[in-house]
Amino acid sequence: MVMKSSEAALATTPDATGFGRFFLPGPTEVRPEVLSAQMRAMIGHRGADIKALMEKLQVGLKDVFRTERLVFLSSSSATGLMEAAARNGVRRKALSLVNGAFSQRFAQIVEACSLESERYEVPWGEVHDPQVVRDRLGKGGIDAITVVHSETSTGALNPIEEISRVAHEFDDVVILVDSVTGVAGAELWSDRWQLDFVLTGSQKALALPPGLAFAVASERMMARSRAARNKGIYFDLLQFQKSQEQMQTPNTPALSVMYALDVQLERITAETLEGRWERHRAMREATVKWVEEMRADKGVGLSVLAPKGFRSPTVTAVRMPERSSSVPVVAALKKAGIVIGGGYGKLKELTFRIGHMGDHTVAELEAVLDALEEVLTA
Ligand SMILES: *Cc1c(COP(=O)(O)O)cnc(C)c1O
Repeated sequence: MVMKSSEAALATTPDATGFGRFFLPGPTEVRPEVLSAQMRAMIGHRGADIKALMEKLQVGLKDVFRTERLVFLSSSSATGLMEAAARNGVRRKALSLVNGAFSQRFAQIVEACSLESERYEVPWGEVHDPQVVRDRLGKGGIDAITVVHSETSTGALNPIEEISRVAHEFDDVVILVDSVTGVAGAELWSDRWQLDFVLTGSQKALALPPGLAFAVASERMMARSRAARNKGIYFDLLQFQKSQEQMQTPNTPALSVMYALDVQLERITAETLEGRWERHRAMREATVKWVEEMRADKGVGLSVLAPKGFRSPTVTAVRMPERSSSVPVVAALKKAGIVIGGGYGKLKELTFRIGHMGDHTVAELEAVLDALEEVLTA
């Protein structure tokens, strides 16, 4: 695309675009050059043009998911693929690991699909113990695990690799992973960790506009899908596989978001996925360090909700001092032109959340933390 010189300047100067002030844990801020990729003209969703685009997207998506398998592209929000996980992957009864609002929703989705879900719930903010999972699976009756990698409501990062290893100690238990704020921000290896189903959405760590969701399914998962009853049509994984083998999608895809994805995957390739993981880790460390300094040096009794060693690199939930609410803090920051997340669900007033994911940098984050400090010490 040819840009006028003023537009070109906008696209390369973060300050001029205003980029770096929107730290919601989803949707996340989208780079101007990624946003403007959506201006491309429509193409037909059958034929050579879509085939070329899909082939190109597959290369980048496979790298992001660390898989050799086909990455499914769904024109839905991530919740659609959570439903696909349940409908295609749970035969009768899932063990649902619940530690926050999104993992709770995963359990509810299983039940809403007329399947059973037994919950292993830990206090919100904490993570799951693989040994407890092993003990429960040993008693039988479970054929799937639902689990959230990075629990966006609390900032807790579950030990997915270990939990998957436990699942694979049993013959017939698939592991279904919501990595909506994990993929492209937190380290994740779909194939190496033998994840049966791992899903994400476009508007979180991938820093794209909302409208697309992505997933990888193992051979075991596809076998489940083949045998599944009542899986409907829109989220039937066999339909995804069949059309994507032809480099098409089952129905009309969100083409404009695919154009944005095309540009974003080029940017991710240039940074490298490892570089992206590292940048996210650095943003988490900067946030944790700031919380500790606020406590030790400024007398503001903040703390990080998730335990050390299990903190998400993409989102931090910060617990407020005793008896104070986060609501006015989030509002004051908004007035200063910076958006962060409030607490989620039952943690609404007790915490605020910083979504340090996508294309943000430590430098931009530091400006947010400075502004927060001003509000909290005023
Ligand atoms: C945002 C989010 C979802 C829901 O995604 P939608 O795209 O809004 O459907 C699910 N799980 C987690 C962990 C999330 O962060």
